[in-house]
Amino acid sequence: MALTLIPISTNSTIAAGPQTPSCGNFKVTKNSSIVGIEFRKGSYQVNAFGISCKKVMGSKGLFAKFLKLKNNKSLPKPWRYLADAVGAPKFSSGPGVGFRVEQITSVTRSPTVEPPARANATPTPKPNPAQPPPKFSFKFNLDKSLPEDWIAEFKIIMKNLGEIIPISGEINRILKEPFMNIYAWNGNTKNPFRDVIPNASGSSISGNSPSNRWMVLEIPSDEFRYNYLHRYSVIVHETFHVYQISLSKDNMQPKWFSEGGAKAIEEMYTQQYYGRSDFRSGSTEVSASVISNPGLFEEYETSQQIDMNYGSSAFMVLALAKELQKQGISEARAFGMILKDFTLEKSKESDWHKAFTNIFKMTVSDFYQRLSKYPADINQVLPGTTLRLQDVFAGK
Ligand SMILES: [Zn+2]
Repeated sequence: MALTLIPISTNSTIAAGPQTPSCGNFKVTKNSSIVGIEFRKGSYQVNAFGISCKKVMGSKGLFAKFLKLKNNKSLPKPWRYLADAVGAPKFSSGPGVGFRVEQITSVTRSPTVEPPARANATPTPKPNPAQPPPKFSFKFNLDKSLPEDWIAEFKIIMKNLGEIIPISGEINRILKEPFMNIYAWNGNTKNPFRDVIPNASGSSISGNSPSNRWMVLEIPSDEFRYNYLHRYSVIVHETFHVYQISLSKDNMQPKWFSEGGAKAIEEMYTQQYYGRSDFRSGSTEVSASVISNPGLFEEYETSQQIDMNYGSSAFMVLALAKELQKQGISEARAFGMILKDFTLEKSKESDWHKAFTNIFKMTVSDFYQRLSKYPADINQVLPGTTLRLQDVFAGK
């Protein structure tokens, strides 16, 4: 189970509308905050869904209005902030209605001093503006409440993942520091990091702004007592989210891809390294909605109650791999296209529908149509037991 910090909505059965293109950019002129969430000065890309851009943008729009609220004051009803575990901050007034804002990382240049022009000055060579990003690293904060054997295995897993899915330094264009903290503790202990992350619980990538995020791993003590593999696979799941953020420039849409991909890789990891997975233990629940209304799984808001432990999202990802294999693509390559190529494509093509067609050579609605031919059963789409993640991420 990978808990995210998403409030449970009581009515979330309305289909998400088609993803609207960006409303354009909004300039936040000074460092501000909305209900305690930091919005640093800069340009933000705004995407509206189920509401017109006009209502969100401009000096009288909702975003401007929210920025003017005093810190920690609640949003005007029925608006609420969705503390999405991944992706950009989101504001919603009901299922399928709201907007998200995402800071556009600006490239800061050191001021250059132009020499005074002279009549016959020789042209000066242009400085190279593209500085390579600094190397990224994780900082481990592992509480002593954790069993020693878990800590040892955690380090092995992080080393393996560092080779399989290295986090690109490009993530430093999103994060304000070239590293990310991982806070881990045993759930039988009160959050030992409460001074730094006071409200943290469960497992997630959390943050108080797009540029300041951390990984939370609160491992339930039952997972140690009963030797659940989830105590290890959750490390893979959350680390893969960081990989997605780095490769996609934080474009985490749609939900079934980001969560289904994370669920798929965690089970592929346990299959490869421990010889078993939840996919084969009969514990993966798949909702019938994956066949009848797959669009629901594009958003957290419309699929919370029909995507337990992201089993439904994972089903969609695994079915896509099957469809690609029908075109003669190998299984490893199919998963490479899904977990790597599509993620990277979204950094260049922000409309995920277009990115999908670019990579998979079919439209999203083509795929949803093909899904309707499957039974909603994970056993129909299981990946092979000999699949190696090294081959999946090896490239073309
Ligand atoms: Zn997740």
